[in-house]
Amino acid sequence: MNILIIEDNEQNIYLERYLLEARGHHVSEARDGPAGIAAARAVAPELILLDIQMPGMDGYAVARMLRTLPTLDTVPIVVVTSYAMSGDRAKALLTGCDAYIEKPINPHTFVADVEAAGAGSRSKEQAIS
Ligand code: MN
Repeated sequence: MNILIIEDNEQNIYLERYLLEARGHHVSEARDGPAGIAAARAVAPELILLDIQMPGMDGYAVARMLRTLPTLDTVPIVVVTSYAMSGDRAKALLTGCDAYIEKPINPHTFVADVEAAGAGSRSKEQAIS
C-alpha cells in the first residue's frame, strides 16, 4: 500500500516507516496537520496513519478536514496515539477514522493491524459502489 504517516514524533515516524517498508509498503510522511493534509492531496495515499497529539492542529481536526475533501473522503484513516483516555477511541471513530492503534507501537502486530484496517475499508468501499 501507499501509506501516509502524519506524526510529529521522529522516533514514531522512524519505527512506523521501518516496519512498513520491511513489508513492502511505500511510505510518505508529514510532521504536522496542515502538512499532512497537503501531502494527502498530493500523494493520494491508500491509507493514512494519523497521530492525535500534534501541536497546532490535532489529529481529530485533520481527520475532519480530510473527510471534507472529495478525493479523501473514503481513504482509511488509522489513528495511532498514546492519548488513550476513556472515550478517545470512540471520538476517533466519530471524526471519520476507521481504526485505532495504541502507542507504544508493538512491532510484532503493527503492520498486520495496519493491513487489516486497509483491507477492511477497501471492502467497505466495494460494498458501497
Ligand atoms: Mn504526537
